[in-house]
Amino acid sequence: TVSIALFTQDLRLHDNPVLHAARTSADQVVPLFVSDPAVEAAGFAAPNRQAFLADCLADLDASLRGIGSRLTVRRGEAAERTARVAAETGATTVHVAAGVTAFAQRREERLRKLLGDRLHVHDASVTVLPPGRITPAGRDHYAVFTPYHRAWQQAPRRTVLTAPRSLPTPDGLRSDTLLVGGATSPGLPPGGESAARARWRRWDIDAYADIHDDLAADDTSRLSPYLHFGCLSPTELVTRALRHDGPGAQAFVRQLVWRDFHHQVLAARPDAAHRDYRDRDDHWHHDEAEAEAWRQGRTGYPIVDAGMRQLAHEGWMHNRARLLTASFLAKNLYLDWRVGAAHFLSLLVDGDVANNQLNWQWVAGTGTDTRPNRILNPLRQADRYDPDGAYVRRWVPELAHLPGPSVHRPWLFSADYPAPVLDPEDLNARFQHGRP
Ligand code: FAD
Repeated sequence: TVSIALFTQDLRLHDNPVLHAARTSADQVVPLFVSDPAVEAAGFAAPNRQAFLADCLADLDASLRGIGSRLTVRRGEAAERTARVAAETGATTVHVAAGVTAFAQRREERLRKLLGDRLHVHDASVTVLPPGRITPAGRDHYAVFTPYHRAWQQAPRRTVLTAPRSLPTPDGLRSDTLLVGGATSPGLPPGGESAARARWRRWDIDAYADIHDDLAADDTSRLSPYLHFGCLSPTELVTRALRHDGPGAQAFVRQLVWRDFHHQVLAARPDAAHRDYRDRDDHWHHDEAEAEAWRQGRTGYPIVDAGMRQLAHEGWMHNRARLLTASFLAKNLYLDWRVGAAHFLSLLVDGDVANNQLNWQWVAGTGTDTRPNRILNPLRQADRYDPDGAYVRRWVPELAHLPGPSVHRPWLFSADYPAPVLDPEDLNARFQHGRP
């Protein structure tokens, strides 16, 4: 008998429930990935993520070959191509993880239509707890993080699965090549499960609690792109992290809970990818020149500009920089959060509908923040999280001659730098007028 393991956001051999189920339900397994042009058409296949995905698939194929198998890649409508491979191989079962996004939910419906009860949908393993596993009384999802975090800590987690040692696979299946193209950021990390596991082994979790907000130290795990593509299982990460006793592990796991939290919001409210989660009837300001200055890292606020330039260069940005650049766009410039979120998604190698859109909504005050009217002051953020100015000097070399924290206020030192787009003395004016 033959089964198909349809890989989606779980591009790994370790702790992969879909692969495990396919392996135990048949003699031979076809590991399959379908590249769907609908993802490309929707703008989600940004060049940075496509390049990273190509690495992930190459690494997965190499690992599969190591256990007597190989990856089949097809291009086309995901459900239709999967059904075609099922027909080619006579597969009796097709295994896939439940999806969280509207796209994944539609894919599942179409797979169900074409395959009927040959389709086996497994709990989403892109999160630790599948969306909907824990819910507050009378509701389908948590809208507030703290009670979610509490309930999450009490909930049982599934056990971690080992990687298969061998995987018999039928011969003679052809593969399409993945389309990659477009300009990528020069400093992208390498994709794939092997790189992810190497990164995790090298990284020091014990220092995390003290250092995660220090922009210049740049010592967060940088595992987000691997988690996005499922090169690492978050369940395995949590299990491994909790072997370290201490504040570093606790703080790190808490961030993974944020990830689960946003996914369960999106699964219940797929429209929150583009519509306000809580409609506050904001009267956003419109100014394309300002939006463009922000995208290019030329707002005149070096701490904001540094973050935006890191994003362009690496396809990744430090969390503290994401918070303050997003807040600058949505609360100081008071431009529609969707303008900023779209730019992030066009570049982030970890760009994720759940994490990106819902973090943006959180920052903009249209989402799940219980204090939606808080405003971060970019200069105070700079003084606090880049006290010596080293992060700014790294990313804004034209200001490298300004010593210490003076780099955060170039207008005081008549440096040759764009004038601030907003008056530093009156940063909150637009928000105060526009917010209903
Ligand atoms: P670490 O600090 O090492 O954290 C470990 C893991 O926890 C991360 O890899 C990530 O998977 C998860 N995590 C951490 N913080 C958050 C958070 N606030 N929300 C959800 N998960 C979190 N993260 C994405 O993965 N994709 C995105 O598209 C994305 N967009 C964001 C947009 C904005 C405006 C903001 C404020 C945050 C966004 N984040 C996003 C969350 C966070 O900034 C990144 O996950 C983090 O910076 C990745 O770096 P790291 O892996 O070193 O994180």
